[in-house]
Amino acid sequence: MRSERTIIHVDMDCFYAAVERLDNPDLNGKAVIVGADPHGRGVVSACSYEARVYGVHSAMPIREAKKRCPHGVFVPVNMHRYEKMSGHIMDILNSFTDKTEQVSVDEAFLDVTECFKLFGNGAQIGRMIKERVLTQTGLVASVGVAPCKFVSKIASDLGKPDGFVVVAPDEVLTFLHPLPVGKLWGVGKQTEKLLHALNLKTIGQVHACPVEVLCAKISDSSAQFLKELAAGMDTRTVETLGEAKSMSEERTFQEDVGDKQLLRHVLLEQTDEVMRRLREENMKCRTAYLIFRNTDFTKHTRRTTLNRPTDSSNEIFACIEKLLGQEDFYGKKVRLIGMGVTHFGDDQEPQLDLFGQKKTEEVKTKSIDAARDIIAQKFGKDTLKRAALTPQADHTRP
Ligand SMILES: [Mg+2]
Repeated sequence: MRSERTIIHVDMDCFYAAVERLDNPDLNGKAVIVGADPHGRGVVSACSYEARVYGVHSAMPIREAKKRCPHGVFVPVNMHRYEKMSGHIMDILNSFTDKTEQVSVDEAFLDVTECFKLFGNGAQIGRMIKERVLTQTGLVASVGVAPCKFVSKIASDLGKPDGFVVVAPDEVLTFLHPLPVGKLWGVGKQTEKLLHALNLKTIGQVHACPVEVLCAKISDSSAQFLKELAAGMDTRTVETLGEAKSMSEERTFQEDVGDKQLLRHVLLEQTDEVMRRLREENMKCRTAYLIFRNTDFTKHTRRTTLNRPTDSSNEIFACIEKLLGQEDFYGKKVRLIGMGVTHFGDDQEPQLDLFGQKKTEEVKTKSIDAARDIIAQKFGKDTLKRAALTPQADHTRP
């Protein structure tokens, strides 16, 4: 049985390079390569289609890119700028539905199944998204519309650049089956090789292949999973911040606040409280987010995801502080500020480094956090306050 949902995948075209062009129109029509110093040892982060013609691609050593495309314009990465633009794009997507899952700085899934009455069908909403992103940011988004996540992602990719591909529920199989197996979700170079060894080159061939044959080369669960994908079945839902398990704190001010130092104090207090609760549950998190509501009552979320789960207050506050630093709140004051954590992982020991020693800094902050938690448990959570939280934070209380 196929999903009856309508999922839209939005993926910005050459995002970093496109933002650079927006800021410097001289770059239009040129081979733009965003990344490390072309004479150094870093890599390409992103490049324009004009550069791709020369075989340049992201993650390629930047020196190689310089060799292949000597006339290219090399631009350093300005992540702060891209994240800010990403926030504008996410706000546009959130104006269609709150069932939005941001996957990376320039990519998101939307479940628009329940928006038809408001905005029209999936194809119409997809068109509106493209138009709105272009008129409000000047950037081009490729859009894929399909009954499930992985098909919508393939669809947005196939249409690039300036893509718009709609796959209706009854077209899913004819859309998928001619495509190479490498397009299947989770099939990397290794699995691709194994499938090729079975003479399976297209998704249609995987679909037609008995599951026992697949099991000879790959694990039973992977085989089952690939069979489902090849049949156009992907039951993963769009995971919104609201639906995903999260822990958060918010504070509404009686008077709008523009002073960032004050907001920083409130966020520090909120982070301490949220992380104390997280540790109480023996959990760790990978994503930290900042929430703010402007004076015009629009609510915005900015988030950062770490490489590995953490339960350290300091580590999460560093993320929150960075997000706060990047934000200009659209030039307005804020009515509400908050933070939260999500993407929970198991409680694990701190990672071992190459020599099997625990990272001392991590262990140190861990024991400080543990001491704070014990005091909070014994004497109440307001007993111990960070030096940074007294006394300014108190007059922000509602
Ligand atoms: Mg992209």
